[in-house]
Amino acid sequence: MILLVKTGGEASLPEWRRLFATLVPGLEVRWWADPAVAPEDVRYAFVWAPEPGRLAAFPNLRLIVSSGAGVDHLTADPKLPRHVPIAKMGAPEAVARMREYALATVLYHHRRFHAFRANQRARRWEEEETTEAANRTVGVMGLGTLGRPAAEALRDLGFRVRAWTRTGRDVDGIEGFAGPAALAPFLAGTEILLCLLAATPETAGIIGVRTLSALPRGACVINAARGSHVVVPDLLAALDSGHIAAATLDVFEEEPLPGSSPLWSHPRVLITPHVASFPDRAARARFVADAIRAFESDGTILNRFDPERGY
Ligand code: NDP
Repeated sequence: MILLVKTGGEASLPEWRRLFATLVPGLEVRWWADPAVAPEDVRYAFVWAPEPGRLAAFPNLRLIVSSGAGVDHLTADPKLPRHVPIAKMGAPEAVARMREYALATVLYHHRRFHAFRANQRARRWEEEETTEAANRTVGVMGLGTLGRPAAEALRDLGFRVRAWTRTGRDVDGIEGFAGPAALAPFLAGTEILLCLLAATPETAGIIGVRTLSALPRGACVINAARGSHVVVPDLLAALDSGHIAAATLDVFEEEPLPGSSPLWSHPRVLITPHVASFPDRAARARFVADAIRAFESDGTILNRFDPERGY
């Protein structure tokens, strides 16, 4: 039973082997491009951004585990073997890390640190009046594996939390909005927008001029989902007009973000390098081991990617 690994670079293979040796005894762990592996012996693949076409070369592949929660790096492959199920990374540590990122960045904007940061550059001592969390409305887009725990943690901290999803989710203490028709009313009351949507054709470019102008003046925007969600020129225009007060961005269409991007030097943009939720190797290996065990025992796919709905 072979698990092919392509995440973290080939130098990480000894560490993956050490981790899986105790988690799934008997599992043979090989590097993705190992020429000595017979394609028909490969049962599992644990991958990030595999070269297009290559997953189709393994006739007995049973399960693909994505090394990240997003699967756009897999679905972009036109030859992806569609009959092989995909488990999206859903390690408890990944959820916890995103919860921390949501709390850190929402508090950053709630407490006006974006303004203090700009003032500090100008050596300007300027008090800003701030309000309590109970008077601040945070709008979370997406209540999935990562979005829901983040929204709940914000609610538990005392924020007024509302959420926008495709199907409508009933979560205690969180006001729900569902579907395209509910987007405008959702945005109208949102002061801090946190995007944790799946990346699909429907959500591409969703944080563009229409969404930004539907937010109240002075709103802040956080994107920790995918770069495809944000229309960068629209965001920059909204920041420069003052309609949007500040933004925090963790993900970009092109990563690393090119040095020429105007986002780098914008005084009211905070950039983090796709680190919102990045569990360590041990945590990811535990999830892969759980996914393999669940699949072997009764065919259960943990945190399953649903090709019909696209996430
Ligand atoms: P899930 O697939 O679990 O949840 C996706 C959410 O998006 C669901 O609530 C779903 O609605 C909603 N959604 C999908 N399509 C639409 C639509 N058309 N309109 C409204 N809502 C929609 O995703 P995860 O929680 O696992 O991941 C969230 C995002 O975070 C992904 O984009 C992922 O790539 C990204 N990510 C970022 C990381 C980082 O470090 N920055 C790390 C890991 C993931 P419904 O509830 O109705 O189904």
